[in-house]
Amino acid sequence: MSVGDKTNIEWADATWNPIVGCSVVSPGCTNCYAMRQARRIEAMGGATHYAGTTKVVNGKPVWTGKLALAPEAVLTKPLRWRRPRRIFVNSMGDLFHEDTPDAWIDRVFAVMALAPQHQFQVLTKRSKRMRDYCNNPETPRRITEAAEEVAARVYKHHWLGALANAGIGFAKQLILWPLPNVWLGVSAEDQWRADEVVPDLLATPAAVRFVSAEPLLGPVDFTHIKHAMGLTRDALRGVWHAFPIDAGPPATINTNPPRHSLDWIIAGGESGPGARPTHPNWVRSIRDQCAAAGVAFFFKQWGEFAPLTEPAYPEHGVHSFVHVGKKRAGRRLDGVEHNVFPEPRA
Ligand code: SF4
Repeated sequence: MSVGDKTNIEWADATWNPIVGCSVVSPGCTNCYAMRQARRIEAMGGATHYAGTTKVVNGKPVWTGKLALAPEAVLTKPLRWRRPRRIFVNSMGDLFHEDTPDAWIDRVFAVMALAPQHQFQVLTKRSKRMRDYCNNPETPRRITEAAEEVAARVYKHHWLGALANAGIGFAKQLILWPLPNVWLGVSAEDQWRADEVVPDLLATPAAVRFVSAEPLLGPVDFTHIKHAMGLTRDALRGVWHAFPIDAGPPATINTNPPRHSLDWIIAGGESGPGARPTHPNWVRSIRDQCAAAGVAFFFKQWGEFAPLTEPAYPEHGVHSFVHVGKKRAGRRLDGVEHNVFPEPRA
C-alpha cells in the first residue's frame, strides 16, 4: 500500500509521511485517526516501518510511542511529484514529537527545501519544540547539509547531485530561512490550548502561520490570547492589549510587525468512533473573527454530528445535534462553504 499521496483532507492535495508514530498529548488526541490508520497499515504488513508503532489495548489501537523514519523512497517522494501540490506533512504522527531526533527533522526540511514547487503544511501539537527548532541559529546550516546529502543521492545524474558530490555547497545558495514553501501550524481545540500554543507559533519564523481548531471542543477567541502578567494579544492582527479582558475594554499598547500574526485558521468537528459534537456558535465566532481581521478561514467539516436549528428560538441558534455521519453532516456553515487559503508571505 502506498501510504500518503492523494488525500480526502479538504485543505490538502496530498499527504506525505516521512516519520510515523506518536503518543497522545492533549484532549484533541483522544480519538486520533492516525492511530487507527497506523494500526491498519501495520496489520496489512506492506509498510514495514509501521511495525511496533501501535498495539491493541482493550480492543482499541493505541500508540506505543515508537517512532520510525520512512525508507528513502518515501522520504524523497515529493521530489518526484512534478505538479505543484499542497502537501500535509506527517499526517501519521507529529514531526516535532519529543522523541524525534533533530537529524530526522532536518532531513524532512531538506526535502521540502529541494521541492519548491510544492507548499508543505506542517501541523504540530508540540509547539515549543517547533519554536525552539526553527529559532535555533544552527538549524538552517544543518538543513543545508542534509539537503546536499539528499541531493547527492537522489540527483546522482543531475547537476544538483554533481555539485553536491563535488562539495560545492549549492544548497547554501538556495536555502532561504524560513523556507518560503513551508507553512507551520499548531492544533488548538479550545481556549486553554490556544493560549498555550499560539504564542509559540507567533514566535516561530514561517512563511505561513496557521491554526487547526479541529476537533473544535470549545470556544476560542483568537483576538485575546493570554500571555504572562495579565497581557493578552490579538493573534489575528499582531496587537497586544494592556489589560485582561475582564478588566474592561482593552487598551492597545503596541502593534507588532505584521509577521507576528496568524495567516490562516482551519476549524472543524470530529469524525470517527467516539466523536464529540462541535457547537456551531464556536465555529461562527471564529469565522467572524477571521472576517473582521482579514484572515483566511477554512471550515473543514462538521464531523459526525450535524447541528439542528431550532426555529422557535432563533436567537439561540442551535439547541441540539444529530448523529448523521460525516458525509451527511457536510461542511456548510449557515449554508456557505468556507474554503479560503492564505497567501504565503513574501
Ligand atoms: S499529536 Fe496528532 S498524531 Fe499524535 S496522538 Fe495527537 S492527534 Fe494523534
